[in-house]
Amino acid sequence: MVRSGQVSPESCPALVLNADYRPLSYYPLSLWSWQDTIKAVFLDRVNILDHYDRAVSSPSFEMQLPSVVSLKTYVKPARYPAFTRFNVFLRDKFSCQYCGARSELTFDHVIPRSRGGLTTWDNVVAACSPCNLRKANKLPTEIGMIPYESPIRPTVHELHHNGRAFPPNYLHESWQDYLYWDSELEP
Ligand SMILES: [Zn+2]
Repeated sequence: MVRSGQVSPESCPALVLNADYRPLSYYPLSLWSWQDTIKAVFLDRVNILDHYDRAVSSPSFEMQLPSVVSLKTYVKPARYPAFTRFNVFLRDKFSCQYCGARSELTFDHVIPRSRGGLTTWDNVVAACSPCNLRKANKLPTEIGMIPYESPIRPTVHELHHNGRAFPPNYLHESWQDYLYWDSELEP
């Protein structure tokens, strides 16, 4: 299977839902290329819930490309999201943790790497370029730049919450019904 999140819209990806009809993962969104999806259909691992207008055909069969599938067997979802650039930005709501700016975003090591700081959830924050330059190789206390929120590893649930404000860039219309099914429960 292709790793999710690396599938381009041109490849007609299918949104992959768990057996409970929630996306298998949100960040990155669980997507399979149409080739992987059709393979899974033939292996009887998924149900097709919706499809694209496009079809693929061979001499012996024709099939519309699935746009939403669900696994027949429930997979226990991960509690914690992958440590990725996107997910760090999402945790920090795409804003600089020192001044709140939302442009020129980059990453800052709270404890600089040159001072032994690690590239981990609890030491990397979103920071704008000007703040990043200003902080340079200083400790937060040396320069008086403390992140708004102490960086910690978020749960998938927390990222999901933040993600409602920042939907993925590409969403096929047939996916909408499956992405935020519980959003009406939120005030
Ligand atoms: Zn800043």
